[in-house]
Amino acid sequence: MFIVFIGPPGAGKGTQCKRLVEYLGIPQLSTGEMLRAVKAQDTALARWVAKHLDAGELAPDHLVMRIVAQRLSEPDCQNGCLFDGFPRTIIQAQLLDEFLSRQGKTLDLVLDLRVPQEELIRRLLRRAEEEHRGDDTPETIRSRLRVFEEQTAPLREYYAKRGLLESIDGTAPPDEVFEQIRAIVDRRLALRGRGR
Ligand code: AMP
Repeated sequence: MFIVFIGPPGAGKGTQCKRLVEYLGIPQLSTGEMLRAVKAQDTALARWVAKHLDAGELAPDHLVMRIVAQRLSEPDCQNGCLFDGFPRTIIQAQLLDEFLSRQGKTLDLVLDLRVPQEELIRRLLRRAEEEHRGDDTPETIRSRLRVFEEQTAPLREYYAKRGLLESIDGTAPPDEVFEQIRAIVDRRLALRGRGR
């Protein structure tokens, strides 16, 4: 199964992704982690990536797709993976569709974790204090939420039109959120088993 996980910063996407990859036994492709790994190197590309990440802005679409494509061609991704934090723009979604279709593959499901804006800000400010995350200052939090609304939220409509989108209430306790996700995934797997 190829699954996309959409969720604004602070929605609990990381936690739920970890549980889902364990449940399904597929790899998790976190573009945030991949980009942080690039940023940690001592190269010109690293400094360019750092400029985007530190400002709470998105890295360029084609660069992100190149990193994802490289990872997707590895053997463990051939039967599926969970995209965490990717795609983040309509262009990335189109690039991913093209890449998968060239390989005779398609997306199976898009999970959309919903949490109201005020709750997200509360959670992110708390996390910034607890984890001293350099990219979680009040300014970058506001900027990342704005970037999500402007650039990533339109993906909901893009995928809903294709019948791939399933929304989940992310304000529930983590165990209940995962139960919602598991029910959705099980239903999709059952439909696929019946060839639909
Ligand atoms: P995350 O760990 O998913 O919250 O990502 C951290 C940061 O990495 C984001 O704020 C962006 O600057 C960058 N990033 C992660 N994924 C993407 C993506 N798919 N496209 C562009 N930038 C990304």
